[in-house]
Amino acid sequence: MKGVQDEVPEYVRGEIASVLISAEKIRERIEALGREIAEDCKGKDPLLLGILTGSFVFLSDLCREIECKHEIAFLRAKSYVGTESTGKVKLEGLESIDISGRHVIIVEDIVDTGNTLEKLLPILFEKKPASVEICTLLLKETERRTKDLSVKYTAFTIPDQFVVGYGLDYDQSMRHLPFIGIFKP
Ligand code: 5GP
Ligand code: MG
Ligand code: MG
Repeated sequence: MKGVQDEVPEYVRGEIASVLISAEKIRERIEALGREIAEDCKGKDPLLLGILTGSFVFLSDLCREIECKHEIAFLRAKSYVGTESTGKVKLEGLESIDISGRHVIIVEDIVDTGNTLEKLLPILFEKKPASVEICTLLLKETERRTKDLSVKYTAFTIPDQFVVGYGLDYDQSMRHLPFIGIFKP
């Protein structure tokens, strides 16, 4: 059901082609995902490791649906300029997070080429976590992802289009939109 939250506001109508996933659908899916993670993580006190900036909206909603003890930390990764991946990933903030012995769940906004996670995973494993799982809001169906990544938790699989909203940006704007929309360049 589409509500007021899924109307594309007038001031971004020139940049959004259509709503791909409504705010209501996102909410329902995150409730279910939170229950699933809570079931799997009882007694493990997992560390949800959000990748900034894109995951901040997803993680803030998701953590409130995970009814078991857990901790939250963020690190920053940057690879996109505009709608293009630069192929180079910059990571910041991992130095100050205690990973050793922890059950880590990486929380991503979107897995596209997989470059970010491919770069992050070996660096995380060097810090001797007890386990590492991947949780992503969106998994893009794309041939640009060449290596197999095992993603345990996916909220939605989407076609190979550039999307914005619910944390995802176009050059830092549109992160606040409550739905996920297809970007109109
Ligand atoms: P990957 O390293 O898997 O190619 O993607 C890393 C990052 O690129 C994502 O976390 C996200 O920040 C950005 N990205 C990839 N696809 C999209 C997209 O469709 N829309 C937006 N806004 N960002 C994307
Ligand atoms: Mg990201
Ligand atoms: Mg971005």
